[in-house]
Amino acid sequence: MTTRPPLTTTAGSAVPDNQNSLTAGPRGGIMLQDYQLLEKLAHQNRERIPERVVHAKGWGAHGTLTITGDISRYTKASCLQPGAVTPMLARFSTVAGEQGAADHERDVRGFALKFYTKEGNWDLVGNNTPVFFIRDPYKFPDFIHTQKRHPKTNMRSATAMWDYWSLSPEALHQVTILMSDRGLPVTPMNMNGYGSHTYSFWNDAGERHWVKFHFKTQQGHKHYTNEEGEAVIGRTREGYQEALYGAIEDKAFPRWTVQVQIMPELDAEKTGYNPFDLTKVWPHGDYPPIEIGVMELNRNPDNYFAEIESAAFSPSNIVPGIGFSPDKVLQARIFSYADAHRYRLGTHYEQLPVNQPKCPVHHYNRDGNMNHFGLRSGNPDAYYEPNTVLGSPAEVPSAKEPPLRIDGAMARFNHRDGNDDYGQVTALFNLFDADQKARLFSNIAAAMNGVPSDIIERQMVHFVRVHADYEAGVRTALKAAHGYEANTISEGEAAE
Ligand code: NDP
Repeated sequence: MTTRPPLTTTAGSAVPDNQNSLTAGPRGGIMLQDYQLLEKLAHQNRERIPERVVHAKGWGAHGTLTITGDISRYTKASCLQPGAVTPMLARFSTVAGEQGAADHERDVRGFALKFYTKEGNWDLVGNNTPVFFIRDPYKFPDFIHTQKRHPKTNMRSATAMWDYWSLSPEALHQVTILMSDRGLPVTPMNMNGYGSHTYSFWNDAGERHWVKFHFKTQQGHKHYTNEEGEAVIGRTREGYQEALYGAIEDKAFPRWTVQVQIMPELDAEKTGYNPFDLTKVWPHGDYPPIEIGVMELNRNPDNYFAEIESAAFSPSNIVPGIGFSPDKVLQARIFSYADAHRYRLGTHYEQLPVNQPKCPVHHYNRDGNMNHFGLRSGNPDAYYEPNTVLGSPAEVPSAKEPPLRIDGAMARFNHRDGNDDYGQVTALFNLFDADQKARLFSNIAAAMNGVPSDIIERQMVHFVRVHADYEAGVRTALKAAHGYEANTISEGEAAE
């Protein structure tokens, strides 16, 4: 027979009775001195933390990143050297739905990775699509408002979404992917991940290359139609959690092939597109993907709240050999994500076990709410810097990335000037076969239900600029779905 440990208060004192409150007589009332009752209720009130404003619903697991290729000439990052094996954490998510949302909804999926390297944590906080709806972070709160609930109706608004998208041509690439088959993967294992932003690699010689990261599913792409997704939601709202958790419990460990696209630093001045624009890909023909390794998820968390809900991913976490790029949205996320975690989890969110680096940490930050690690300089006299305290933490010049030349006048440049928002969408549209196109059209028609015709027609102008068949197909699907009657787009509008 196993002996059970004593039940205690959080202060460690034995609890004599966990069934009956302390009362004055069997009928009550309750004594204020029943501190254990008060503590249980107080803890219950505090079981929830603010959910993420975006990417609230998520599923995650632990795993490893194994490097099999050799990109040592581009980067000094130890976790990317041939043969390196790095423990990691992945969290997948939908963007718009709240924590209780159904998993099988049409949405972009978050693909957030934390690599616990010997040189500090490296986070890649991407999506299952290589591009995004915005290219200027000024628009991020506005765009997310269109995905969330209407302030009065408290319902999501198709009108708000298409009003915004039809006024934001840079969103069309991502909208097209979202409405295509890839907008509703069967499980998180059946989708690719993309670092999305352009990052940089740098080496000991001070050379910089721009880089894009890709994670290609080895489980194969599998997608549901809207109808199939709805049928699954009718059975379970937790389909992704069941699939990912179940696969790992069954030891059918999901894997992704890791690839990079690499661009010499000065090429960025020559490409016909801005390589730092989050609404663009780098065509594979220009910068072929190079296979560098494999990511495997092989351990389920023991506690979802502690290891997945409390996981804090931020693009600000990079390691020597990996750098940022001028991508405006990346630059804003460097601030915004860490700030979200300070609000959601607290000042010292990086000290939570799931977020702790697996390498030594030394710094001069101190005190604050829930500081349970003392002074991280390793010496009580070393609480400022510079200092002459023996053995206190000092800067590491070898971690300094090469200088990046930046020039230009300070202004609010129109991010739509000189940008082709249609060419890459046309390239994607041309990849779809007839059935994929038909599903794209009907998914868009379904998503436009109830949207006023002036907004629909404004959006049609974008579709026709991609391909005449795109506009015609959506129009036919709208008629079939909602009896929407065709307007015609003038040649002038289409050419604008
Ligand atoms: P390529 O033909 O060389 O690349 C095609 C890539 O498009 C594929 O490797 C695949 O990316 C992706 N793709 C293929 N079928 C679909 C589909 N049904 N839905 C979504 N993506 C698909 O041409 P380009 O590199 O010039 O890209 C053409 C278009 O493909 C781009 O404009 C972009 O919309 C899309 N794309 C491009 C990617 C890139 O990094 N170049 C990445 C993903 C999409 P994967 O192997 O990643 O699955």
